[in-house]
Amino acid sequence: MTTRVRFAPSPTGFLHVGGARTALFNYFYAKHYGGQFILRIEDTDTERNKPEFENEILESLKWLGLQWDEGPHYQSQRFDLYRSYVQKLLDAGKAYRCDCSAEEIDAMRAAATAKGQKPQYNRKCRERKDAPTGPSVVRFKTPLSGEVLINDGIKGPVRFANEECDDFVILRSNSTPMYNFTVVVDDIDMKITDVIRAEEHLNNTPKQFLLMEALGFTPPRYAHVPLILAPDKTKLSKRHGAVAVTQYRDEGYLAEAMLSYLARLGWGHGNQETFNYDELVKLFDLSGCGSSGSVFDRTKLDWVNSQFIKAKPLAEIISQVKGLYQVDLAPLAATVSGEKLMEALTERALRLKDFVSGTAWFFTDCVEKDPQSVESVLKVAKPEAMPALASALEALPDSDWISDKIGALFKETATKIGAKMPDIAKPARVLLTGSLASPDIGLVVEVLGRERALQRLRS
Ligand code: GLU
Repeated sequence: MTTRVRFAPSPTGFLHVGGARTALFNYFYAKHYGGQFILRIEDTDTERNKPEFENEILESLKWLGLQWDEGPHYQSQRFDLYRSYVQKLLDAGKAYRCDCSAEEIDAMRAAATAKGQKPQYNRKCRERKDAPTGPSVVRFKTPLSGEVLINDGIKGPVRFANEECDDFVILRSNSTPMYNFTVVVDDIDMKITDVIRAEEHLNNTPKQFLLMEALGFTPPRYAHVPLILAPDKTKLSKRHGAVAVTQYRDEGYLAEAMLSYLARLGWGHGNQETFNYDELVKLFDLSGCGSSGSVFDRTKLDWVNSQFIKAKPLAEIISQVKGLYQVDLAPLAATVSGEKLMEALTERALRLKDFVSGTAWFFTDCVEKDPQSVESVLKVAKPEAMPALASALEALPDSDWISDKIGALFKETATKIGAKMPDIAKPARVLLTGSLASPDIGLVVEVLGRERALQRLRS
């Protein structure tokens, strides 16, 4: 049987790292087994759905390269199908209409709690012979005994006693289907073989399993992926990085780095730290998934990103920087010294943004100086340092205008005025680039050229 999995986001929020990881696990599982990855938009919550969320979800999946083979299917367009399945259960006597009022149900729950039982509906309408004539919901006839055994692909066997499960509602009185029901009908209709989803859905699984069986279908295999945690082991929130995936893109994380990093959140293969797309297709399987939560570590993500940046052809970096930030590095990179600068930035960059901040001083003639560096460096610099450096640079022959020679000149000048290298290099950095965070100072001077460098040093 062909493997068919689905990613089923609700467009009630942006796609964040947790959702992206679920999509990724489904995608590579499907690809590993030569199967299909189906996209289903679970948009039945009309009050909380927003088109911008849906757009962002689709955009994020495309950016990550998780292109779906089928869909998107929209649940909001499938209500007739859901109702026809409700009718099947009613006809088979596996579901029933119930017109108990909200007050009655509250009273039933309170009575159960008072007896030390789980607050549940007491199944009053379950064996009624007459059908209610007024507004009513449809409830599922949950088996009264026995258990559901889920052989979870990640968690192993998980058991649920049927008596713990209410005769839950599958169709509301306004004739809209409930979440657990729509999922089951879709998983049947879309011939889903494996459901891989977040652990928070585990409690829905016995209900869905029972509905599947009642409808006469073999339930799919289930696998529940453990939570992604913050470094302090609490649930990952916005503060820690549970932000929209597109935000990572905008900050300059590479899609392939994001994939590699997200794959490692809950999955692994030996000690390998990074994975490219083909490796994920080849190696991804549920057997490599751990059953405890994994920690989202921004520093690690940065490291992974830096590795992928180093491995990427410069032309692609330049094209992505242009697309993201409208900064064209191509003319700079086309010069001999500019190419050296690009190489130096590639070695240090954590994000694509770093190529923008690392070259901003080149593209402007009024360098914005970081106030802290002005205080800690410029205000205390030796007054003779910059004039001495400027004169030395002015006298340097054109043929020696290369970073190594310029660097040597910095050292000579420092010795000449009885100072140390940082006493010259630090104020020069601030005057030339605006801050202390820049590549090799000799290279900065080389790239700027004599005229611009001198002008800045003398300012
Ligand atoms: N729509 C659900 C969610 O966004 C997913 C349900 C499922 O995967 O079964 O969390």
